[in-house]
Amino acid sequence: MNEQVYQPREIERKWQQIWEETDAHKTNEDEKKPKFYTLEMFPYPSGEGLHMGHVRVYTIGDVIARFKRMKGYQVLHPMGADAFGLPAENAAIQRGVNPREWTLNNMERIRNEQKRLGVSYDWDRYVATCLPDYYKFTQWLFLLFYERGLAYKKKAAVNWCPTCNTVLANEQVEDGKCWRCDSEVTKKELNQWFFRITDYAERLLQDLDQLEGWPDKVKMMQKNWIGKSEGAEVVFTVPALEDTKISVFTTRPDTLYGVTYMVVAPEHPLVPQLIAGKENEKAILEFIEELKKVNEITRTSTEVEKVGYFTGTYAKHPLTGADIPIWVANYVLMDYGTGAVMGVPAHDERDFLFAKKYQLPIKIVVQSKEGEPYTLEQMTGAYTEDGVLVNSDQFNGLNNREAIRTIGEYLEKIGKGKLTVSYRLRDWLISRQRYWGTPIPMVYCETCGNVPVPLEQLPVILPEDVVFNGKDNPLTTSEAFVHTTCPKCGGPAHRETDTMDTFIDSSWYYFRYASPHEEIKPFDSRQVNKWLPVDEYIGGIEHAVLHLLYSRFFTKVFYDAGLISFQEPFKSLLTQGMVLKDGAKMSKSKGNVVSPNEIIEKYGADTGRLFILFAAPPDRDLDWSDSGVEGSHRFLNRVWRMVQQHLETLTQTYPYQVETDAEKELRRMIHLTIKRVTEDIDERDNFNTAISAIMELVNKIYVYPEDGNKGLLKEAIETTVILLAPMTPHLAEELWQMMGQRESIHKEKWPTYQEEYLVLDEVEIAVQINGKIKGKMVVPTSYSKEELEKEVLSDPRLEEWKAGKEVRKVIVVPGKLVNIVVS
Ligand SMILES: [Zn+2]
Ligand SMILES: [Zn+2]
Repeated sequence: MNEQVYQPREIERKWQQIWEETDAHKTNEDEKKPKFYTLEMFPYPSGEGLHMGHVRVYTIGDVIARFKRMKGYQVLHPMGADAFGLPAENAAIQRGVNPREWTLNNMERIRNEQKRLGVSYDWDRYVATCLPDYYKFTQWLFLLFYERGLAYKKKAAVNWCPTCNTVLANEQVEDGKCWRCDSEVTKKELNQWFFRITDYAERLLQDLDQLEGWPDKVKMMQKNWIGKSEGAEVVFTVPALEDTKISVFTTRPDTLYGVTYMVVAPEHPLVPQLIAGKENEKAILEFIEELKKVNEITRTSTEVEKVGYFTGTYAKHPLTGADIPIWVANYVLMDYGTGAVMGVPAHDERDFLFAKKYQLPIKIVVQSKEGEPYTLEQMTGAYTEDGVLVNSDQFNGLNNREAIRTIGEYLEKIGKGKLTVSYRLRDWLISRQRYWGTPIPMVYCETCGNVPVPLEQLPVILPEDVVFNGKDNPLTTSEAFVHTTCPKCGGPAHRETDTMDTFIDSSWYYFRYASPHEEIKPFDSRQVNKWLPVDEYIGGIEHAVLHLLYSRFFTKVFYDAGLISFQEPFKSLLTQGMVLKDGAKMSKSKGNVVSPNEIIEKYGADTGRLFILFAAPPDRDLDWSDSGVEGSHRFLNRVWRMVQQHLETLTQTYPYQVETDAEKELRRMIHLTIKRVTEDIDERDNFNTAISAIMELVNKIYVYPEDGNKGLLKEAIETTVILLAPMTPHLAEELWQMMGQRESIHKEKWPTYQEEYLVLDEVEIAVQINGKIKGKMVVPTSYSKEELEKEVLSDPRLEEWKAGKEVRKVIVVPGKLVNIVVS
């Protein structure tokens, strides 16, 4: 017979074209079927195209989507582009290109690369956040937030990246550096738009418990970011300033009697009054100037030395009335809590070090319950364990945990404080002084102030007559954009020139996919309630706090606004590991980048997909290996040849008989492989072990006797090709057609296994010691002499049978008995 050679490039091109022409990946809406929404995080259309990390995410998502379709689900599997962002604007500044064209070209290129991977996206639902038909609704949603009191403008010292020339959200500052460009972040006083995410802090925290399908690590990161702490607000007064109040937040009101000093942030509004005319006034003013150059992460880091100055003024302790010296120090921030903290050196490590450094008094108020009481002289650090209260008036003897509540309630009773909850989470700073983003739909009128743009005037279109000089916000350079009329009074007004953080665009795109052509509203609630929450979301762990937290916030706001009927957007989350080369992350500077196109050209997309799935479980890092790719390619060739060899068998019908041991074994392998592959994909996302199982089945087919039943052989080969279809869709489709099938393999029903065929045939054998029967064993009929011997010698009853004697010889009669000679 004339055998064809496996030529992936031709096959892949052919099927990609057919799939496109036949709309093969259009969402198979069928209300009788259960729904499944599988989603991969959409890419930023950079100028570099896709890298292997993308290929990995898309391949994982595609296997799940194809598998679920074959399992009888209606599946939503969409794709889009997170298309606003700084690189487009930088290209405009550096090379004079139009950001819109630059972005659209990149989008086109990436779409083509995704198509070449054979990913089954419903392209009809493609969404690009930079196009007016999308950002119109990002603006619509901003107005919804505004109307609900969740968008507000305020003047604040905000994170500023001098390189990107824009402000950043707290979530976008990593170790004091800009998440995008790694520049040192500074502070700048600006009038900015915020989203009131803090209103949702408690719900964002509580609902993490519902997310059973999320990795614990991600939930923990969000929990820490929200940073709930319970404690009390305590009011100190300053007698020298007519009893002006200074509130502090503490998680340890039980240690209130141990306060020996207090510290206010250098930015605290009372500082000028506290230091006026005092000895340290000049030094403190200089210190404050110095601190403006340091960002808050550095300021509060444990490695930075704590520096402080005594203001010269005292506060009055709310319970004892004692004089408490007020200090100013670098480690207290105005943004967190109340901008003032109490110093309890005996029971807080940081306070202990500070008190030692500046020779401030230390007062023990929690004493250990066991053994001898410890003394000040013995202390080499703070005592932070639990214990009982001492030196605390009427609270002496209380368990310190109880005292948190007792003292908090007492403060409340005497009007000197209250029990409180505080969060580390801050409101989300969303305005950016950049061009390539969604314009904020607000105007300013001398008479009316901030006025929202009416819904019917949306979208506020990004103007093109702007100047990119690398300094000013380009939007401020378009006269036609800036000058407008007030929607309220009709007088002259000017537009907001800040654009929105691109993380707003990506906070709701997965809603848009459910009804991408909706023109009146951001989405059709009925469609959204049908498809969402997303059943499986796949993307990188780097979005654990940013994108995933913001998306949860948006979902809750939509729920509160009555737009949707659920409160969490992503049921299950898969965070894939990185793709490494020689143990390091692929990067241009290291010169270890393997480009997807290169692999597709040389081996075909199916080989690339198979390798990526086979090399590691999805949540682990994957080390790229050329020999691994070769191995995957060889395996696909092996499958190809197997089908070629049996083409005649595969296109005919045979009586189906299972009689011999070899036939029984092949049937067992078919059913076992179906079981393993199904469970690996469905329950564990373990594609690597699913592929191993298929490889074992292929091995069995190769050793199947020539005179074995052909009907069974046909079933084995068909099963192999069907099980491979989600992973190597082009190859499977081509082989399926060669086997005489008319319909697409991707419309086949996923095979099921029968439990009864999984059982190995078994036989009972006798175990003898020196010719005398001692016991019986049930073993598989297929066991070889060696296997039988091994099984018997490892039987726990053997010790008793041989009664301390040594084994001299083992005689095996397969299917009958094992005789052990001892002496
Ligand atoms: Zn930056
Ligand atoms: Zn007006």
